[in-house]
Amino acid sequence: MTTTTQATDRCGAPIIELTAPLVGGSRTRSSAGTAGLEPSEAERSERFSQMRAGELGSVHSWELVTAVDGPGTRLTVFLSGCPLRCLYCHNPDTMEMRRGEPVTADELLARVARYRGIFDVTGGGLTISGGEPLMQPAFLARILRGAREMGIRTAIDTSGYLGAHCSDQMLDDVDLVLLDVKSGIPETYKRVTGRELEPTLAFGRRLAERGTEIWVRFVLVPGLTDAVENVEAVAEYVASLSTVSRVEVLPFHQMGRDKWDSLGMRYELDATPAPSADLVERVRDQFRAKGLTVF
Ligand code: SF4
Repeated sequence: MTTTTQATDRCGAPIIELTAPLVGGSRTRSSAGTAGLEPSEAERSERFSQMRAGELGSVHSWELVTAVDGPGTRLTVFLSGCPLRCLYCHNPDTMEMRRGEPVTADELLARVARYRGIFDVTGGGLTISGGEPLMQPAFLARILRGAREMGIRTAIDTSGYLGAHCSDQMLDDVDLVLLDVKSGIPETYKRVTGRELEPTLAFGRRLAERGTEIWVRFVLVPGLTDAVENVEAVAEYVASLSTVSRVEVLPFHQMGRDKWDSLGMRYELDATPAPSADLVERVRDQFRAKGLTVF
């Protein structure tokens, strides 16, 4: 990761421009913005109804990135909240929605609009990531619609676990889905994420049936996701989706470990090494053998 610029927006949240691809699944991010005063009961209730309407979202952070999260230069917005508990999560501080900052859809869209020129020149656009963006479907829908109305290309980065929260209208407003397929064997998926595999598989199939372009991401963790049969199951599934244009095999690393400690959460992968170059190639070859384009 190369940080080339650092500025702050009017909320005091960092804007970080990156120039190189990141590897290892979720990137390490810093918290967005400042914490406000404790809201009153009335304020909480008002906030809740605004969130249900999609006028207000819980946002962890945002970054301006190049060569990751979709084509061109992208504004990637990380929403707070995630139903999964991936053992290798590099940003466990995005798991709880309450840890995010309240940001209105109008504020966020005004920010997105500032980068229209860059998006046009680079073929980039807006990527909504998390956490899990589908934890806040009304807010996500509003942001995607607003971006589309501005002529900005959009992507969502999702595990697909909450694909049932994604309406057809939302998918009409999405150009690309970055689908994280965390394992191909249900028991392994459960061990990795604490949840079931099937919703992800169903969401991927739905995307392919609709003709939505998909980039698949697979995090390679020695001793956890690297079994030949597990990778084979992912590769077979991915090869069955006609709209997958790219597969990214992301080697596990330990960059997120300190965050688990600082949140008082138990981190189980202390002793897990990064995969060797040979292992990464073996796994990439398994995807290539299915005719997939692999990075
Ligand atoms: S899907 Fe997994 S890796 Fe991504 S934010 Fe949720 S727990 Fe972390």
